[in-house]
Amino acid sequence: MLIVPEALIADLVSPEDAYTAVAATFAAMARGEAYNFPVVREALGEGRQYGFKSGLDRAGGMLGVKAGGYFPGNAGRGITNHQSTVYLFDPESGRPTAMVGGNLLTARRTAAASALSIDRLARKDARVLGIVGAGHQAGFQLRAAARVRDWERVIAWNLHPEMLPKLAAVAADLGLPFEAVGLERMMEAEAIITITSSPAASLMAAHVGPGTHLACMGTDTRGKQEVEVALVAKARLYTDEVAQAVSIGEAQHAVAAGLVAAGEIVPLGAVLTGADAGRRSEAEITLFDGTGVGLQDLAVAAVAVQRARERGLGVEVAV
Ligand code: NAD
Repeated sequence: MLIVPEALIADLVSPEDAYTAVAATFAAMARGEAYNFPVVREALGEGRQYGFKSGLDRAGGMLGVKAGGYFPGNAGRGITNHQSTVYLFDPESGRPTAMVGGNLLTARRTAAASALSIDRLARKDARVLGIVGAGHQAGFQLRAAARVRDWERVIAWNLHPEMLPKLAAVAADLGLPFEAVGLERMMEAEAIITITSSPAASLMAAHVGPGTHLACMGTDTRGKQEVEVALVAKARLYTDEVAQAVSIGEAQHAVAAGLVAAGEIVPLGAVLTGADAGRRSEAEITLFDGTGVGLQDLAVAAVAVQRARERGLGVEVAV
């Protein structure tokens, strides 16, 4: 089995690689060639979460699991709050083939998913990008979104405003004007990414104009919520995985309130395969409920392993 440590990932898997891998995975899921196993997610106390996301991609020859979680005290220790490792297995024999550092891969595959949703669902003339959140993932989200539209400016809100300068620095690096705003100014955005660990809605229906695309990426656990239920209920809903959207995603609250049924939520992969036409009008609000699926993790980890083998990198161990 090949060990590919975290430190190698940045050079092995680019944001473009992650985008290509995630698009292929979502399409394979929509064609029924790949499926995710049920997520295990446990609260460890003091806000810590730990769990397992796993799946099988028959066509891609991938079987594996990402073990990891969210440890809110880590930032104070100088390490990222998300900690994860991906394990790959031979789908024919079950033998372990690789152990891959999953932290940067998680950020890149998550940013790739929301950028993919913006590319396929936001209006073509979208020029103002809104971001709700300014933690570790937010900068990755902004960089990935910058690749799919010609943004004229970025507006952002965060509950903790002292975190916004770091996101502003990413915008400056991309050459994009950046402004910290109140939530009511999100009205100016044609696409909004939400990427917080919030337990209650911040973004309300009154903050979002017609024709906006929302990429809701922060809610990946039961009990988290970024967006008002009324906004979810009035949007055309897309997701990576319907079973996850209704149980651990942003849609969980609207489903529990009886405002949305699972059958109304469309897998983004169906847009990629052409089975769903995507946005139906310039005025429609579209919402991508990005819950994060195990197959995304396997796909980007497989790229890392392939590149590491090609370049003679990583550590081979007998197991
Ligand atoms: P982080 O800890 O670095 O940042 C947390 C963010 O949430 C900050 O912007 C913070 O200000 C905000 N926040 C915290 N408490 C809040 C509250 N009560 N109300 C509103 N905002 C609040 O986290 P991160 O690594 O940037 O991750 C952000 C979220 O994205 C987490 O919930 C994480 O689990 C989730 N995530 C999802 C996926 C996916 O695939 N969907 C992947 C990775 C991370």
